[in-house]
Amino acid sequence: MPQFSIHRGRLQAVIYQAVRARLGESRIHTGHRLGHFREDEGGVSAYFFDRHGSHRTTARGDVLVGADGIHSLVRETLYPSEGPARWNGAMLWRGAVDWASFLTGRSMVIAGGMAAKLVVYPIAEGTRPDRRLTNWAVVARISDGSTPPPNKEDWSRMGRFEELMPHVQRFRIPYVNAQALIEATPEFWEYPMCDRDPLPRWSHGRVTLLGDAAHPMYPVGSNGASQAILDARCLADRLRSAEHVVHALWMYEQERLPMTAQIVRMNRKGGPEGVIDAVEARAPDGFTSIDDVLSFEERQAIVRGYASTAGFAREQVNKAA
Ligand SMILES: Cc1cc2nc3c(=O)[nH]c(=O)nc-3n(C[C@H](O)[C@H](O)[C@H](O)COP(=O)(O)OP(=O)(O)OC[C@H]3O[C@@H](n4cnc5c(N)ncnc54)[C@H](O)[C@@H]3O)c2cc1C
Repeated sequence: MPQFSIHRGRLQAVIYQAVRARLGESRIHTGHRLGHFREDEGGVSAYFFDRHGSHRTTARGDVLVGADGIHSLVRETLYPSEGPARWNGAMLWRGAVDWASFLTGRSMVIAGGMAAKLVVYPIAEGTRPDRRLTNWAVVARISDGSTPPPNKEDWSRMGRFEELMPHVQRFRIPYVNAQALIEATPEFWEYPMCDRDPLPRWSHGRVTLLGDAAHPMYPVGSNGASQAILDARCLADRLRSAEHVVHALWMYEQERLPMTAQIVRMNRKGGPEGVIDAVEARAPDGFTSIDDVLSFEERQAIVRGYASTAGFAREQVNKAA
């Protein structure tokens, strides 16, 4: 499964530059919060407000695409009784720091098991040729999942070493000193592992959902944003070719909803990282040869099965290119 890793801020800058070049600076409006919208026969009116609740502008368009994340107002308007996101009781801490390159300098380490996992990989060049901007993430179960997720306001808050480090001590990997790496990270953030059940429909007339608003999923298998990008590609293609925008939104949903619903469910079982859980389940006390625990074919089936559902398999990537 080929993987391209990029810092989130840099990816957003790439997208911003492309939008600016193609649509022009005047089409980008920051600081506008969608408050509500109204659809009629000829289009959709969207009402935007500032952070203090004052009306800023009303925009009119042929369609409204709700790409407003896991706490989507557009989704809540379409499904008012859905309620908050579901939390599985795991917390995810993530940070990035300039660190000594390991293995090939492009390698990714995924370690741990069902109770906690550690992921380490480079996302950019470092301050010297032998260093990389190194991304790390630790996922650990801190609750049995029966409690509601932390308040929306407490999401993406800065992480605290005293809460994280007890989970890090279990990791001993030969290539990277995980404890030192994390301790050297000046600031990092925490995120509850949340998703939502797949919806029966995204498109309602001239209004549809995209990305996390449509299919919030656990961020395993380097996935989530990748699916939002695939959604956008598909939606743009359908809008270009369909005779009517309502039909375009319907075709987009037909193509993308079943696939992403399956990924939401696969990510609940660990996605491609489930290969580690399968090994741990069969050999909780360790092993000498992994092939005695889970054959190469079984390991490949887990990872390849996920890759092809997610649209990441090499053949699919080559075809799209
Ligand atoms: C710790 C962590 C690690 C992850 N790692 C990966 C990874 O390696 N690979 C990957 O592909 N994905 C990853 N993801 C998932 C990825 O972050 C999301 O899937 C992705 O950000 C979804 O993009 P989006 O544009 O749909 O939503 P968001 O990125 O949530 O963007 C929604 C935007 O809408 C805005 N908004 C919200 N409400 C309104 C409103 N009413 N009016 C106007 N604007 C509004 C928000 O301010 C925000 O800017 C990870 C997620 C987490 C938490």
